[in-house]
Amino acid sequence: MAKREYPLERTRNIGIMAHIDAGKTTTTERILYYTGKIHKIGETHDGASQMDFMDQEKERGITIQSAATTAVWHGFFDQFAKTPYRVNIIDTPGHVDFTIEVERALRVLDGAVAVLDGAAGVEPQTETVWRQATTYDVPRIVFVNKMDKMGANFQMSVDSMHERLQVNAEAIQWPIGAEDDFEAVIDLITQEAYYPVDDLGEKWEPREIPAELKDLAEEKRSTLIEAVADVDDDLMEKYLEGEEISVEELKAAIRRATLALQFYPVLAGSAYKDKGVQMMLDAVVDYLPGPLDVKPYIAHNPDTDEEVDLIADDAKPFAALAFKIMTDPFVGRLTFMRVYTGTLKSGSYVQNTSSDSRERVGRLLQMHATSRTEIEEVFSGDIAAAIGLKNTTTGDSLTDVNNKLILESMEFPDPVIELAIEPKTKADQDKLANALQKLAEEDPSFRATTNQETGDTLIAGMGELQLDIMVDRMKREFNVEATVGAPQVAYREAFTKTVEARGFFKRQSGGKGQYGDVWIQFSPNDEGAGFEFEDAIVGGVVPREYIPSVE
Ligand code: GDP
Repeated sequence: MAKREYPLERTRNIGIMAHIDAGKTTTTERILYYTGKIHKIGETHDGASQMDFMDQEKERGITIQSAATTAVWHGFFDQFAKTPYRVNIIDTPGHVDFTIEVERALRVLDGAVAVLDGAAGVEPQTETVWRQATTYDVPRIVFVNKMDKMGANFQMSVDSMHERLQVNAEAIQWPIGAEDDFEAVIDLITQEAYYPVDDLGEKWEPREIPAELKDLAEEKRSTLIEAVADVDDDLMEKYLEGEEISVEELKAAIRRATLALQFYPVLAGSAYKDKGVQMMLDAVVDYLPGPLDVKPYIAHNPDTDEEVDLIADDAKPFAALAFKIMTDPFVGRLTFMRVYTGTLKSGSYVQNTSSDSRERVGRLLQMHATSRTEIEEVFSGDIAAAIGLKNTTTGDSLTDVNNKLILESMEFPDPVIELAIEPKTKADQDKLANALQKLAEEDPSFRATTNQETGDTLIAGMGELQLDIMVDRMKREFNVEATVGAPQVAYREAFTKTVEARGFFKRQSGGKGQYGDVWIQFSPNDEGAGFEFEDAIVGGVVPREYIPSVE
């Protein structure tokens, strides 16, 4: 039997989340650099990025695929050299069209780093991903990036969290200088300043806090203590008694409050200028949860309906969630899974409880930034990619063959945008069918349907950019030649109550109606406009304001 490489306490499954352009990709890349997985710092937008798998991601400079990468952290001062931490980074896309992918990633990670642009503070998509993380109870630390940028303002960024997110967030660090003068970082907890001593920002040394910042640093430490004491009884007691609060006590209280989602530590840095990323990694270890620190994942037995709490434990029967399917150019179909409990050996069988079928795991891979290693066994609390699972789709439960469980399935909202796609030849038609099936398996928010009236193939998804990329992939990866129509806002809703369709709805058969193409499927009495019907599905392309209301 293979041996577990990293104890559970030394495992972190984290995601990096941000508004687009805040610096998620750059920060991720620096993490991979400092954890020793890539050896050259590459720029995101010159195509050398390590996390962006696909061509068009590189061209567009955005990250779409939710890939998981394994890294090892030895500590800012090599303090974990002997027993390092395993940090699995689950890539969460930043574009608003892909919030569905963000949700999927949030489900399988234990903690997250929210990256802010230090000149912008909280932005609209920061709010979106923040809300999603709250829905999934994901503890977070905040990295205020771009402190070197024109207009960077750390205090403003912290304030924007209070105002726009309404959360208990305070600085645990303070920047020394901003914009071109951003030089170093003060650790408010230890009251030490850290300065880089080489160009790549690899080595840093502690120094005294500059005289003019001493008062500010003390004041900010008090602000931090008060904010944490507010939500932590132990610290509050010490604080009220006026006792000296040690570094260890403060760190422990910050950890408790962060895990309880009562507090969000804020850090300062510039990924681009190689400042603050290593300290942020220390904070990941110090304040974000390991698999044993999070609430048990609730699964249920499909036969008895009994609820089961999944707690990471190698001795328990295997249970995992497939959270991402990718087609890899080298090895084909990869199924990324988060193992909640138990272990799984390569070559063994698993039960896909969602599709009620048994499947064999051919090989297991650990994905690193620039390489992949084959592993014999994956342990609880860890993430791995399986080769050989042919019938598993995103969101499926994979369990021990004798201990079937359903891990709550992922829900995907209905697509909001659609476009018609017409293959050029019969051969393209077949290629298209194959492409649509593969792409829909990878991304359940992407759907292909046939227009009931015209027979056209329609593809639908969460946003224009997503459909753009899907069309691009059909061409590149599946060689489909096709004409593509303009994207339309799609609307589809199933009613179980009696609804009244307003008079302007046309029962369309081809062509364009005054309000767009609307199709209505209904039963049983379908006479004319203004009708009432039951159990209807209303759909098609219709301006939002004309959507009928459900009484
Ligand atoms: P993402 O969209 O959040 O993944 O953001 P990227 O990492 O792709 O960064 C967006 C842009 O901001 C790129 O041009 C980066 O070079 C730039 N950038 C990232 N981090 C920093 C930083 O710390 N300082 C400055 N000035 N620019 C940065």
